[in-house]
Amino acid sequence: MIPSILPTYNRAPLTFVKGQGSWLFEEGGARYLDLGAGIAVNALGHAHPALVETLKTQGETLWHVSNLYRIPQQEDLADRLVDATFADTVFFTNSGTEACELAVKMARKHFFDAGQPERTDIITFSGSFHGRSSAGIAAAGSEKMTKGFAPLLPGFTHLEFGDHDALRAAITEYTAAILIEPVQGEGGIRPVPDQCLKGLRDLCDEHGILLIFDEVQCGMGRTGKLFAHEWAGVSPDIMMIAKGIGGGFPLGAVLATEEAASGMTAGTHGSTYGGNPLGCAVGAKVMEIIADAEFLAEVNRKAGLLRQKLEGLVAAHPDVFEGVRGSGLMLGLKCRATNSDVVAAGYAEHVLTVPAGDNVVRLLPPLTITDEEIGEAVDRLGRAAARVTGDAA
Ligand SMILES: *Cc1c(COP(=O)(O)O)cnc(C)c1O
Repeated sequence: MIPSILPTYNRAPLTFVKGQGSWLFEEGGARYLDLGAGIAVNALGHAHPALVETLKTQGETLWHVSNLYRIPQQEDLADRLVDATFADTVFFTNSGTEACELAVKMARKHFFDAGQPERTDIITFSGSFHGRSSAGIAAAGSEKMTKGFAPLLPGFTHLEFGDHDALRAAITEYTAAILIEPVQGEGGIRPVPDQCLKGLRDLCDEHGILLIFDEVQCGMGRTGKLFAHEWAGVSPDIMMIAKGIGGGFPLGAVLATEEAASGMTAGTHGSTYGGNPLGCAVGAKVMEIIADAEFLAEVNRKAGLLRQKLEGLVAAHPDVFEGVRGSGLMLGLKCRATNSDVVAAGYAEHVLTVPAGDNVVRLLPPLTITDEEIGEAVDRLGRAAARVTGDAA
């Protein structure tokens, strides 16, 4: 019999009833060190006092009014995002998937209004993830996500990650945009080298194509810059964000330049919930905390510490791990053992990680994780690794 919850997830037999900082608690008090952070959502950990305070205050004042009216909290968050980035304008969504939908629509509308309606094609890359909507799965293109869901939304060209020649060859007079995650998340924590991001920017400029970055997972301080593409010194025309921006409240956004967004006039797009006062009040508080030089410097310092300890872990367990990769506090342990076995052994050691593609175990701890917790995390991962090889003490 089908369960009351549609069974599209293989869930771990864990039930958490409370969160505090980097820790999740089961009924009865057993605690787990959370290196998954709800898949990079709990960027400030669980029950961050400033976010709780903001949520309570806004919750007692006004939750929702719809986009029929001006929303000061939305204007505040949009201003903060515009001030801190390449963008001139922002549209708020409830998720990364919806941000993907708008990014695709915006790119196509841009060329439609520019008198080039034939330019609808969007180039994407193997191993990418852009959400589970019809546009999202068509964009990523993997069989795992698309099989059985045809007909898929047309207009996506899929290229091998890192194949520069194929990329040059794929650009035609029908190309509207290139869509890429600066650091692939689901695909296995694969950073795009800075040189390649620069090359993509040049290629787009050369051919008059829009560059779209999907920073849903790698953005919001995750890599030690507010947005991952800042490391490469290039900016996109359109960017999708979500996950960390709400700190646990469902919130996403599309950021764009005035030029890229030029086709999105009144009536061309909308959202009932997107950008409501409650979500935007929380998002503005998250931005206030993360878009801060000292906070980001701390993320970088802690990322260095975690990475160094993980290199030690890999060296100590060469039969389980092959190496560490990633950027900032978005790190992947490439496994020799099976990644899901490592994640499951982590459950036994009360440390939570997330499997990713390419046999990688993903570490996306709260950006607020402490040095002590980093030490504890790697100790627990070491004991998990010993379990995988049957050397548990
Ligand atoms: C999670 C994710 C999405 C989809 O976001 P949802 O909020 O789950 O809809 C899109 N792109 C990337 C890179 C993601 O990691």
